[in-house]
Amino acid sequence: MKKFLIIFLALLTLSGCAPREEKASETIFCMDTVMDIQIWGQDAQTALKQVKTLLQELEATWSANDGKSFLAALNRGEVKPNAEQQALLDRAEELSRYTGGAFDPKLLSLMQLWGFASEIYHVPDEAEIKKVMKDGRWDLGALIKGYAAERIVQLLEPLKVSRAVMNLGGNVQTYGNKPDGTAWRVAIQNPNGGDPVGMVSVEGSEAVVTSGNYQRYFIGDDGKRYHHILDPQTGAPADNELSSVTVLCADGAKADALSTALFVMGLEKGSAFWRQNPGFEVVFVTQTGEVYATEGVNLSHCEFEVLSRED
Ligand code: ADP
Ligand code: MG
Repeated sequence: MKKFLIIFLALLTLSGCAPREEKASETIFCMDTVMDIQIWGQDAQTALKQVKTLLQELEATWSANDGKSFLAALNRGEVKPNAEQQALLDRAEELSRYTGGAFDPKLLSLMQLWGFASEIYHVPDEAEIKKVMKDGRWDLGALIKGYAAERIVQLLEPLKVSRAVMNLGGNVQTYGNKPDGTAWRVAIQNPNGGDPVGMVSVEGSEAVVTSGNYQRYFIGDDGKRYHHILDPQTGAPADNELSSVTVLCADGAKADALSTALFVMGLEKGSAFWRQNPGFEVVFVTQTGEVYATEGVNLSHCEFEVLSRED
């Protein structure tokens, strides 16, 4: 009898009654960047389709530069936000206050003045900067990919997805655990090209978001490099010792806003901000190639200095 039961169970497994896991993956272009999505689970293809639809909806709603988007209409004063849209705008304002204004979701006119939207670049003078600085048109470019990652995690939760990992243009989001129990390993891109700076290990659902001065920039007539992360105080690209900031946080939108804000703050103010605020970890990479990691980061394959809470 026992032998019969064992054979029966073995047959059950072989005949496919046990749920089969499939993998679905795709690279798409969305929100002005390349996105790579990988999902494992019983119905990974359906989940992938839903993820793509969500990303396209978010892009159509929140693109600052597509004249047909909700955000463009809001900036023209033509529409009012619904409750969900208002909640995101409120959150952006709250993150701006939290970072002392280093993250500023209303820099669209400045971005356009510098030519980052049209790619017809221009180095403005102080008078031009001053003129548009406070006109308050929304641009959620520093937050929206992190928010999208967060919404994807919420979408995956009720589905039969065992794990997923995606890179939404520099915003890595993990979901679930690898079946062998090992951590996800996320490479930190080398701002100067070549091998990654190092690898961070994370478990479960975590956002690992990088902002850098090497992602979008132009070289001015003066030979200087002008990149797309603006210091809201000067209206010009943040000019400090950093070349990238990576933030690790369970909350995707917060990770995204923080990576931009800490880049603006620079190494000293950024590490002081981390010491005063719990709930996230940071890897700073300087223009001269030094790496500083806060004490909660599990960083390997690189030499780095640890920043501790007590410093
Ligand atoms: P990326 O979008 O390349 O991943 P970020 O998350 O740092 O990088 O976002 C940069 C984008 O955010 C810019 O392209 C611009 O639209 C907007 N932005 C620039 N400077 C700031 C700032 N200080 N605060 C908020 N948004 C900003
Ligand atoms: Mg950001």
